[in-house]
Amino acid sequence: MNLELSEEQAAVRQLARDFVEREIVPHVVEWDRAESVDRSIVKKLGEVGFLGLTIDEEYGGSGGDHLAYCLVTEELGRGDSSVRGIVSVSLGLVAKTIAHWGSEEQKRQWLPGLTSGEYVGCFGLTEPGTGSDAGSLATRAVRDGDAYVINGTKMFITNGTWADVVLLFARTNDSPGHKGVSAFLVPTASPGLTRRTVHGKLGLRGQATAELVFEDVRVPASAMLAPEGKGFAVAMSALAKGRMSVAAGCVGIAQAALDAAVRYATEREQFGRTIAHHQLVQELISDIAVDVDAARLLTWRVADLIDRGQPFATESSKAKLFASEAAVRAANNALQVFGGYGYIDEYPVGKLLRDARVMTLYEGTSQIQKLVIGRALTGVSAF
Ligand code: FAD
Repeated sequence: MNLELSEEQAAVRQLARDFVEREIVPHVVEWDRAESVDRSIVKKLGEVGFLGLTIDEEYGGSGGDHLAYCLVTEELGRGDSSVRGIVSVSLGLVAKTIAHWGSEEQKRQWLPGLTSGEYVGCFGLTEPGTGSDAGSLATRAVRDGDAYVINGTKMFITNGTWADVVLLFARTNDSPGHKGVSAFLVPTASPGLTRRTVHGKLGLRGQATAELVFEDVRVPASAMLAPEGKGFAVAMSALAKGRMSVAAGCVGIAQAALDAAVRYATEREQFGRTIAHHQLVQELISDIAVDVDAARLLTWRVADLIDRGQPFATESSKAKLFASEAAVRAANNALQVFGGYGYIDEYPVGKLLRDARVMTLYEGTSQIQKLVIGRALTGVSAF
């Protein structure tokens, strides 16, 4: 594995750094307090090409490899995880899944809008009664002539209130001769679909997280993504790549924690010298630095495997598990370096900790990642 970035990769990382400094950093506190990032950021992300990374140019994408995608995701995560999540879901979970599984017609219908930022996508798997055990979902799509009629509720859906299209997972085996869980591309303007914002989140407060309720929502049979009964495979393939994206976002959080801790430690004075002179403060900082490097290397390995066409799902779970726990540790250590100032939102580290915490929960909790890794190693499913 080559650990040097190519010229293109270094350039895209610089582009992302400049974008974050210009478009995100000045607004982070304001968006967090307002519980909403400014929606104009989506168009800006599209214009700079970040919503089209790894997608073919013929569908409006900006190309690039998965390492470039990780580099951009890391930089966005360093700036604001709420913005990073827009890309990880709209591009990472929705557009990339359409690009992989979609028919030509579906790609032409959705990809140009998703990659330009005209459309936002969301990923509807979790339900009020179904989280880790995603395969037991209860939302139903029943065949009626040339259409499916959908009923059910989806919970905690990132981008949910903003989205133009839901990649929805529903059970289709209620219709005679039909089977399993299937995936659908459902326009959010469909009659019968209502959305409610989930307020009061600990972190990712700027993100439009929603509950989606489907009451007799009709979609044409052509809205099904991939063959009937393949929905669970579609979801798992999306999440395998999605976990790399979450891991990259966590590297960004940990890097931001490191940068903030070093800066503060070299400015703040106690006992007659900067706190960087105190060995226990250096211990906090060096622990963060090791977490940053280890999480980044695990994440880059996943990107490298994907780009070389190798199996990557278990490595993606390892990267997500380690990087999410590392991001929480790093942000917590940084907060300790800041002392009481870390506890108020004029300083950046409290938000980093709040945003990091959910990373150990979504796209499979840390426990679920351990079961994925354990199953791959032992051949025994302990779910
Ligand atoms: P549960 O599954 O009820 O788990 C509760 C606890 O039990 C956890 O500690 C879990 O690890 C543990 N547990 C469960 N089963 C096992 C087991 N077999 N062995 C050991 N421990 C176990 N979902 C989407 O579909 N789309 C989204 O865009 C999305 N965005 C989200 C955004 C936010 C901010 C949040 C908070 C969640 C989001 N989710 C989304 C949902 C998220 O993926 C789920 O919350 C997550 O999968 C866990 O499900 P749960 O909350 O129902 O917890």
